[in-house]
Amino acid sequence: MDAEVAVIGVGSVGSMTLWNLAKLGIDAIGFEQYGIGHDQAAAGGESRIFRTAYLEGPEYVPILMRAYELWRELEAESGHDLLNLNGGLMIGQQDSQAMRNVLASIRQFELPHEVLDQPAMADRYPQHSMLPGETAILDKRAGVLRPEFAVSAAAYAAEAHGAKLISHATVTDIRSEGDRVTIRTPDREYTARQAIITAGPWSSRFVPKLKSHVTPYRLVMTWYLAREPANYTAEKFPIFIRDTDDAHVFGIPTLDSGSVKVAPHAAYGAVHDPDNLNRTVEIEDLENINAVVAKYLPGLIPNPVRVSAYMDGYTTDGQGLVGRAPGEDNVWILSGFSGHGFKMSTALGQIGAELATDGRTALPIGHLDPARFAD
Ligand SMILES: Cc1cc2nc3c(=O)[nH]c(=O)nc-3n(C[C@H](O)[C@H](O)[C@H](O)COP(=O)(O)OP(=O)(O)OC[C@H]3O[C@@H](n4cnc5c(N)ncnc54)[C@H](O)[C@@H]3O)c2cc1C
Repeated sequence: MDAEVAVIGVGSVGSMTLWNLAKLGIDAIGFEQYGIGHDQAAAGGESRIFRTAYLEGPEYVPILMRAYELWRELEAESGHDLLNLNGGLMIGQQDSQAMRNVLASIRQFELPHEVLDQPAMADRYPQHSMLPGETAILDKRAGVLRPEFAVSAAAYAAEAHGAKLISHATVTDIRSEGDRVTIRTPDREYTARQAIITAGPWSSRFVPKLKSHVTPYRLVMTWYLAREPANYTAEKFPIFIRDTDDAHVFGIPTLDSGSVKVAPHAAYGAVHDPDNLNRTVEIEDLENINAVVAKYLPGLIPNPVRVSAYMDGYTTDGQGLVGRAPGEDNVWILSGFSGHGFKMSTALGQIGAELATDGRTALPIGHLDPARFAD
């Protein structure tokens, strides 16, 4: 047996799973097809949003609160600053489902926040133009994560705890028989008692029963120059999500003293082969986001100075998959995080480690059960 638990894909969630397994003293091995901290899948592009007052629904809040604790633990262990908690503005029509979910999260879990009406927004955050009927809620437990640093920090911390890390090794097959799982790479076969699939946009290749329910989607990220960069620093410009009539976008303060990331909070179309993601960003990809920037963020020049394309696995209901792979005893899947999984990856890693070793977790994952999709 090469390890107790094998982790297939050491990206966002896989690196955190490996770290959590290794912390528990479990003999673990991780396989990654690219280099550690690469930008070829879901974790590239310099920054990710962390937020707790969750517009996707309050059922995520316990996972997010645990994720926050683990981000701080990973920072302490690795010596890297991974999460800058500079606050987050959730902007939308007062009666929208997203804003109702934000408020429900706040009320149910007594999250630190401020409700900002239009005069307060004009006074404190004049970078944003507000529409009639829009309101903003400042989530005080929100901020900016550094994905490449985070994945590397977790993977190398796992290694320091004794995990084996095999990079540039593509897993071509996973076979579960009796009490063992055989993992095949082009070079050799490995065996483990349990396997955890954290292969992101590639995951459904290993779980045919989920194929029609989880699809890779392309996401384009765009950075715009600020006319006055000093107004867009982390101190002055919280991360934001705007979910309103013609604008479903998120934004992140400048990390390079000049450009501000503002990008669509939605995917751009299915990726038929994740090995061949179209990374060319065309003018048609940009028209809508440029118009949103011109309308809602007049302090930015509405012509991006940097663009890039990434992808994530999306499920048909927008909720991730966390649990036993359908029809498999010793194989688990954590995938399909549908454009919002990075912030919770530390806690997902804990959940993955607990499932593979105990078969259960105390964190609430009922809404993420893959069995809801098994054909
Ligand atoms: C542009 C963009 C912006 C986003 N913004 C946010 C945000 O602000 N906040 C947030 O919380 N979330 C955000 N998300 C979502 C979040 O980044 C993803 O949900 C999360 O990173 C998914 O993690 P993952 O581990 O499932 O996938 P990945 O991070 O892609 O990891 C999968 C890994 O598996 C490896 N792999 C695949 N197949 C194999 C194989 N056969 N053998 C070996 N290795 C393999 C891949 O190379 C990869 O490293 C965003 C996503 C995108 C694309």
